[in-house]
Amino acid sequence: MNLEFLALGGLGEIGKNMLVFKFNDRFLVVDAGVKFPDEKTPGVDLIIPDFSYLVANREKVLAVLLTHGHEDHVGALPYLLQQVPAPVFGTDITLGLAEGRIKELGIDWNATPVTPGDTLHLGPFSVEFLQVTHSVPGCVGLAIKTSLGTVIYSGDFKFDQTPVDGRKIDLARFAELSRQGVLCLLCDSTNAERSGFAPSEQKVKAVFEEIFRSAPHRIIVTTFASNVHRIQQIITTAHEFRRKVLIDGMSLVRVVSVAQELGYLKIPEGTLIKTEDLSRFPRKSVVIITTGSQGEPLSALSRIASGEHKKIKLEPGDTVVFSADPIPGNETLVAETVDNLFRQKAEVIYGPFSDAHVSGHGFSEDIKLMINLTRPRYFIPVHGEYRHLVRSARLAQQMGIKESQVFILENGDIVSFSPGRAFVKGRISISANFVDGLSVDDLASTVLRERQHMAQEGIVVLLTYINRKKKKIIGPEIHFKGFLPEKIALEIQEELRQQVILVLNQCIGENLALNACKQKVREALQKTIFKKLKKRPLILVDLLEENEHE
Ligand SMILES: [Zn+2]
Ligand SMILES: [Zn+2]
Repeated sequence: MNLEFLALGGLGEIGKNMLVFKFNDRFLVVDAGVKFPDEKTPGVDLIIPDFSYLVANREKVLAVLLTHGHEDHVGALPYLLQQVPAPVFGTDITLGLAEGRIKELGIDWNATPVTPGDTLHLGPFSVEFLQVTHSVPGCVGLAIKTSLGTVIYSGDFKFDQTPVDGRKIDLARFAELSRQGVLCLLCDSTNAERSGFAPSEQKVKAVFEEIFRSAPHRIIVTTFASNVHRIQQIITTAHEFRRKVLIDGMSLVRVVSVAQELGYLKIPEGTLIKTEDLSRFPRKSVVIITTGSQGEPLSALSRIASGEHKKIKLEPGDTVVFSADPIPGNETLVAETVDNLFRQKAEVIYGPFSDAHVSGHGFSEDIKLMINLTRPRYFIPVHGEYRHLVRSARLAQQMGIKESQVFILENGDIVSFSPGRAFVKGRISISANFVDGLSVDDLASTVLRERQHMAQEGIVVLLTYINRKKKKIIGPEIHFKGFLPEKIALEIQEELRQQVILVLNQCIGENLALNACKQKVREALQKTIFKKLKKRPLILVDLLEENEHE
C-alpha cells in the first residue's frame, strides 16, 4: 500500500496552495487557496486550483484541513466545497477568517475547530496539529501519520521566539516526532533565497515607536488585512502614544472583529473611533489603519493618495507608513501610490527606506532549523516559485539529505511512498481556474481591469453565422480596435478569417455546442495574434446560428 502526495497548487508559484494525500484509496486535502491575478490574467478576479482530480474522487475525500487563515490557503475553500462537500478542520481563527467568503456565497459547511496539539483520526490517517509562528495567529503545521510513516507539513512558518501573542512554535513536539521518525518534510520555501533567520515580528514595534514619536500629524498605516499581530502592534503603540485608532477598509474591519471576538486581538477600551468621529480629534492624536498596501486601484489608500477619498484627506505633515512588502507583480501599483502620496505633501515611509515590515516566512536558517528538528528521510520544498523550491532543496542537501531523497515538484506531480522507497510516479494534468467576481465591488474591479487591458492591448471583434444543416459559414467579419495600424490589420485579417473558417468547420463536423465553438474560435485567434503580434487583445466572439429555411 502506497502513500501518495501531490500539490494542486502552490508549487512554482506564490498562491493557491493546496496539497493532497492519498492512502488506502482515501484522500486528505490540506488548504484551498487563491492566487491573485496579474497582468497575465486580465479581467479575472481570482485564480483557484483545478479541483477536477478531487471532484472525480469526491466520495473518498475524508476532510479538508486548514493550516491558517491567509487567502492563499483558504480563499478557494467555498469553490472547493461547492464541488467536494467534505468536513473542514482548522483553528478557531482560521475558520473565522475563512467563513467570510463562505457566508458571502451562501455555502453550507461542516467546520470543526481544533486546538494545536489535537489529533484527528480520519480513516487510515491520523493528523496532529502543531503550533507554528507566522504572520497570522492560529497557524499550524501538520503531522500526517499513516502505517507507512509520518509526513510533516511545516505550514507557513518562521521561528519567532518572541511572538506578539506569546504562542511559540512547539519545538519540543517537532523534536519528539523526529525521534519517532519522520518519513518526509514538506517545507515552506518562500524565503529560501534570504540568508539568516527571519526577524521576530516584535522588531517592528520599535520602528513604530520611532515613527509615532516623531510624526507631527496624522499617521496612516497600511498593511495586509489578515496581519493580526501587526494590527495589534499598531494599536498597542497608538495607545502608548495616546492616539485613537480608526480601522478603515471592509476586509480590515472584518478581520479585526473576528480576531477581537476570539481573543486574538486586545484593544484597550476607547481606542477605536469611527470615521464620522475623525473631525472631533486633533490630527496628531489619530492613527488610521487601512488596506491598500499593494496599491490596489480601488482601495481606500489609493483614493486617499489621489485625493478622491470622501472622508479622509491628507495634509502636509501627515505620515503614511507601508507596513507590507509589495507582492511580486504589484511593484508598479505600489510605486504609483507612493508618488501620489508624496504629491499630497505627506511623508511616506516605504520599501527600502523602512523597517516597518518583517516577513512571516522563515529565511534559509529557519528552513535549516526545521530540517534539523524533524530529520526527515525525504524532503519536498513547497510554497514558492520554482527558484525558491530549488534553493530550499539545496539547503536540505547541504544538511546531508541525499539528492535522490529530495523532490522538486511541479503542481500535479505525484510522489509515491512505499516501504523503503519514494519516487515520482507520474503526473495528473491540471490547469488553473478563474473566478469572476460576484459582488458589486468585485465587478467594478473586473470592469476596471478590462478597461486597462483594452487600453493596452486593444480589442478584436468577430462576427459570424453558422448553418449546421448546410455546413455553411457566413462571414466572418473581423474588426480590430485600438492596437493595429490599418496596413497590418488588413494583412492579418484574411489569415485570421481563413483560420476561423477552418476551426468552425471542425466544430460543425464534431457538432459542438455554440459556446464550445466560441471558445475554440477565441483560443485560436488568441494564439495566432499572440504569435504574430505579441499582443493579447480582448477577443469578443459574436457567433450565431442561422436557422431560417431557404
Ligand atoms: Zn501562504
Ligand atoms: Zn501565510
